[in-house]
Amino acid sequence: PAANIGVVGLAVMGSNLARNLASREGNTVAVYNRSRSKTDELVAEHPEAEFVPAFSYEEFAASLQKPRTAIIMVKAGGPTDAVIDSLMDVFEPGDIIIDGGNSLFTDTIRREKAVRERGFNFVGMGVSGGEEGALLGPSLMPGGPDEAWVTLGPILRSIAAVAEGEPCVTHVGHDGAGHFVKMVHNGIEYADMQLIAEAYDLIRRGTGKSPAEIADVFAEWNRGELESYLIEITAEVLRQTDAATGQPLVDVVVDEAGAKGTGAWTVQTALDLGVPVSGIAEATFARSLSSHREQRDVSGGLPGPAEDAFTVADADAFIEQVRLALYASKIVAYSQGFDEIRAGAAQYGWTIDLGAISRIWRGGCIIRAQFLNRIADAYAAEPELPVLLTAPYFVEALGRAQDAWRDIVATAAAAGIPSPAFSSSLAYYDGLRARRLPAALIQGQRDFFGAHTYKRIDKPGTFHTLWSADRTEVEAEDTH
Ligand code: NDP
Repeated sequence: PAANIGVVGLAVMGSNLARNLASREGNTVAVYNRSRSKTDELVAEHPEAEFVPAFSYEEFAASLQKPRTAIIMVKAGGPTDAVIDSLMDVFEPGDIIIDGGNSLFTDTIRREKAVRERGFNFVGMGVSGGEEGALLGPSLMPGGPDEAWVTLGPILRSIAAVAEGEPCVTHVGHDGAGHFVKMVHNGIEYADMQLIAEAYDLIRRGTGKSPAEIADVFAEWNRGELESYLIEITAEVLRQTDAATGQPLVDVVVDEAGAKGTGAWTVQTALDLGVPVSGIAEATFARSLSSHREQRDVSGGLPGPAEDAFTVADADAFIEQVRLALYASKIVAYSQGFDEIRAGAAQYGWTIDLGAISRIWRGGCIIRAQFLNRIADAYAAEPELPVLLTAPYFVEALGRAQDAWRDIVATAAAAGIPSPAFSSSLAYYDGLRARRLPAALIQGQRDFFGAHTYKRIDKPGTFHTLWSADRTEVEAEDTH
């Protein structure tokens, strides 16, 4: 057999990944797609690439060297299960089946178990970077057995993006670990995008600058500590003029944000794990609020500050405050995301190197940013760091930013400008800092209506107050 790696599913992601693989020294790539036309097109349009086209699963299996290694890039869900079953019919034990789609990590855990029981290796791999990443170098988050990594590691290292000389791929952990980390990546992406959008909105409404002028602000920010792909493309989008109307493009686009569901998965999973990813949650809810057009239409008359009543006296000073608020909120969003990965690893029994995750996100993926080097440094200094934002670099940055952050959240509230991600990030920060939280009162309420008991600060044990009798305190069994 000629091919050392195969790709099943040749839509945009699969064909670009196949081309990326074929462009690397030493790779010959078997390609298969359910409908023949995509395979024919790919092979015809890229004579430079060493493809071995297959038109049945049998041909596909026959064209692959052992252990056979195949990456599936088809629609997540049922189609992925169908392709896995078809591959198991024609592959042999020891072969490696990789799902590169955006699968939910719990599906990956289920599939890994089923595939392993039949003697195959299964890898669930998060792929970030969209079409361009797949073609030129994605960030790859594979999870699966160590045995598969021996064969797969060198191939994946050859196609991944490179950041600071390191390929953006690491063996994340077992079974669903890779897809879990990809899910949290997308959640952080939601938070980052929402924070940038809030910053833009505040600057636009506070200073009256045009989108093109604000593009210059973002381009400037992209030369400093906020340097990142998302800041860079924000400037590009804001600078774009609509050909049809001559208006800034951002003013003719309908203001209802779409979502494919990975942000929601991140939040749902965080709720199950009990991890407060409030920045990601607010970003996800902000998208859903934006798309509830009917509710927005009937709510426009609600009382509040007039839309055009807000102007700042010193635009440059205000913009700098917004920049600091954005940076501080971004630190919180990433800290929360890494907290979710830590909690997921503990829950599902994965060993995940958080520093390695921050390093493989430095290239190829949507949240790539200079900032990730600071996270890598933090975990290098303290691998078991319980709260990322308590690393010395971030403490210093938050110290620099917090006055501005508070001013911006207060200003936005007074002006009636929604800033859910800025303000929830600040509330999280202050919640972590607080010596005492009103959670003590909640424990009292819970004990009052449900005899849920409470602990005392001054002695061990579990207690209950006899609220409906003489209100004396009794020691209680901790059964609730
Ligand atoms: P799509 O998600 O649009 O899926 C289309 C592909 O799935 C086609 O090759 C199609 O074959 C195949 N397919 C659908 N149903 C079946 C089935 N029952 N049996 C066999 N094949 C089937 O393609 P994309 O390239 O956009 O994405 C591929 C995967 O990568 C998805 O899981 C996606 O979530 C993920 N992903 C996408 C990113 C992106 O930016 N687009 C980024 C990262 C991951 P046919 O031609 O015969 O219809």
